[in-house]
Amino acid sequence: CAQVDYIRHNIRTVADWPSQGVQFRDITPLLSNPRVFRVLIDEFVHRYFDERPDLIAGLDARGFIIGSVLAYELNIGFVPIRKKGKLPYATVEESYELEYGSATVEVHTDAVKPGHRVVLIDDLIATGGTMMAGKRLVERLGGVIIEGAAIVDLPELGGSNKLRAAGLPLYTLVDFS
Ligand code: 5GP
Repeated sequence: CAQVDYIRHNIRTVADWPSQGVQFRDITPLLSNPRVFRVLIDEFVHRYFDERPDLIAGLDARGFIIGSVLAYELNIGFVPIRKKGKLPYATVEESYELEYGSATVEVHTDAVKPGHRVVLIDDLIATGGTMMAGKRLVERLGGVIIEGAAIVDLPELGGSNKLRAAGLPLYTLVDFS
């Protein structure tokens, strides 16, 4: 549709970053242009307006930008799922494998209450490891995930298939192969 095409055309592809052979999908042009930014956020607002989730949980760091604006527009709370070592209060953490080594994300133990209906959001799904770790964190705190959301899916990396197979419905706007 026109909105999704407009969003797609404003994503910048940067070759060989952060390493040789990678085509990095840069979403910062979606943020710096106020018309695109509004179209982008409105896509998610319309998706979740009737569902009335209790919380948006955003993944570090670009998930914070779109997730916090979405939560504000829906008049619901926002919870940051952060890379390890940034949150001051008691946390639960989950680790996941990267191409080289592993990463750990954490969330405050009181950020999600049992039964809370949560939408998880990030800018992009690649291998799905980040979103999967976020899912596990929210569920460990008793949250119920409505859906995982992202601007971009890279389906050839298999992450979105893996997440759906693990029982996480997904809503993404743009695919790149
Ligand atoms: P995954 O855990 O699914 O392999 O990787 C997704 C995470 O890495 C997201 O948090 C996302 O921000 C980041 N990421 C990986 N590749 C890209 C990319 O090409 N563009 C952007 N914007 N983020 C990426």
